[in-house]
Amino acid sequence: MKIVFFGSPGSGKGTQATELATGYSLTHVSTGELFRAKVLDHTRIGRRIGDTIAAGSLVDDITANYVLFKAIDGLNRFLVDGYPRNVAQAKIFDVHLDNLGTGLTCALFIDVPVEVAEERLIRRRSQRQDKVVNYKRADDAPAVIHHRFDVYRKQTEPLIQYYSDRIIRVDGTGTPTQVTRKIVKALQEWE
Ligand code: AMP
Repeated sequence: MKIVFFGSPGSGKGTQATELATGYSLTHVSTGELFRAKVLDHTRIGRRIGDTIAAGSLVDDITANYVLFKAIDGLNRFLVDGYPRNVAQAKIFDVHLDNLGTGLTCALFIDVPVEVAEERLIRRRSQRQDKVVNYKRADDAPAVIHHRFDVYRKQTEPLIQYYSDRIIRVDGTGTPTQVTRKIVKALQEWE
């Protein structure tokens, strides 16, 4: 089973991906997490990635493809969360899997209205502010949130069309538990 998971910022894709990966015994590969780990390296490339994330923009495709292909190397069952982020990445990923003699099982899209997703992000930030010692995601700053949605609309949303022949679209509103149930049901119907 090979799944890609995508949705807008604040769609809850990270939380749902973790749940699903555990439930289906899939290796959870999050490019966002991989990049955030790279930032902590304090190398030149790490600083560049850190600046890009903090600005709410996308890391360049060559770096994203390299990091993702390396992370899934040798894996038969995986759930990729946060990749692809645009159609160029999706196309090269298809070619890569095809060269390996395989392909994606499906693309899972968590569908959350933009207003709901934005509200969630703002809430997440204000909750974190209470805990002064906590790491605060620089890309959750209000000015950056707006840019992230812009990037999502222009670059990531076209994936809905690209994956139209293998997309599972799940309504991402409701509590995390309710959304997990909807995803599991949709996957069972798909299989
Ligand atoms: P996420 O945790 O998935 O929201 O990702 C956090 C940030 O990492 C994004 O806003 C991008 O700056 C970067 N990122 C994650 N995945 C990708 C990707 N596939 N391509 C480019 N940038 C990415």
